[in-house]
Amino acid sequence: MSDEEISEDEMKVEGSKIDTCYPIRLNKLAMGIAGIHDKVFRNERLTPEEGLLLLREADLLELGALADLVRTRFNPEGFVTFVADTNPNYTNVCDTECLFCAFWRPPGATDAYTLSIEELLRIMKASFHNGATTVLLQGGHNPEIKLDYYVELVRRVREEIPDLHLHAFSAPEISAIAKYSGITSKEVLQKLWDAGLRTIPGGGAEILSNRVRKKISPLKIDADQWIRVTREAHQIGFKSTATMMFGHLEENEDIIEHLERIRSLQDETSGFLAFIPWTFKPKNTFLERKISQEIGGDRYLRVLALSRIYLDNFNHVQGSWFTQGKKMGSISLHYGASDLGGTLYDENVLGCAENKLRASLDELVHMIKSAGFKPAQRDTFYRITKQF
Ligand code: SF4
Repeated sequence: MSDEEISEDEMKVEGSKIDTCYPIRLNKLAMGIAGIHDKVFRNERLTPEEGLLLLREADLLELGALADLVRTRFNPEGFVTFVADTNPNYTNVCDTECLFCAFWRPPGATDAYTLSIEELLRIMKASFHNGATTVLLQGGHNPEIKLDYYVELVRRVREEIPDLHLHAFSAPEISAIAKYSGITSKEVLQKLWDAGLRTIPGGGAEILSNRVRKKISPLKIDADQWIRVTREAHQIGFKSTATMMFGHLEENEDIIEHLERIRSLQDETSGFLAFIPWTFKPKNTFLERKISQEIGGDRYLRVLALSRIYLDNFNHVQGSWFTQGKKMGSISLHYGASDLGGTLYDENVLGCAENKLRASLDELVHMIKSAGFKPAQRDTFYRITKQF
């Protein structure tokens, strides 16, 4: 027995609360985690129980090393990508009132707005001339906007700025457009496809656990509906991303449920281009009363790394410099991230939660190089267009 080891007799101190089974449990735990490590090395799929055990118990640095192994499997050349994009929001009017959102306004509020198609085109043209290749467009669920606005917008962007890729309308928005236009989500998607839209963002997923959704966004589509609308989009031919917002009321089990749901859908459709986990920003939200502090870097990196390990059918997992800061953006690349998202010119949603970080292309290149990777600009389909 080494000096550090404690015998069972030494632990049986009268009246003490020392847990004599602790070393046994610790040993079992270590063996369980070691078994999961072996599975990751052998490139075998993890079960939800194994994912949960890693998320709860694995050493953070070991998680990072495993995530790095998986990242390298998918991206063997060491590139880390980013996109030059802009993120305007066409309306802040919303009837869905999510408790985590600081952006929405009720109809008729003094600072409510809805941009016309002409105004949006003006913003997009200016961004395109400043180097943006993608416009990530999302907005509130505004009962006054009907399908023809969205279809006309897509058609005009295709006609007037054909080299700017429109990446627009998340699953909950599609569902809301369907409701306000009196048609199905499938019909909405088909009309947008026919107008020329080819990718949709993975927003509105938050946590795909109905237990949590009932608390943070009771008026929004539930997890099953999010999956259904995304499946419909993939079946038509759209590619999309999947997001996850964590650091609020979710438990580890909810994170595993989220990852399991999107991994299963990816098996079925292969429609996801990337997974984008990001963290809840409480400022100016209703949820701030319950959760006033953001989660720390340890938790962020733990969830990021676990996601990379668990999602064995996703080519990319994105690091969130935007919610975590630029230094953490660099560190995220050692915890499984192979993409740093976009420049996000014109971002408003998290801006309302006092998150106003910005990054130029040069800064993104610097974040990637300083972490020891090769920077590359990409398009919305994650195809590399330029190396630095
Ligand atoms: S997250 Fe979207 S749906 Fe929810 S309140 Fe904000 S704008 Fe509306």
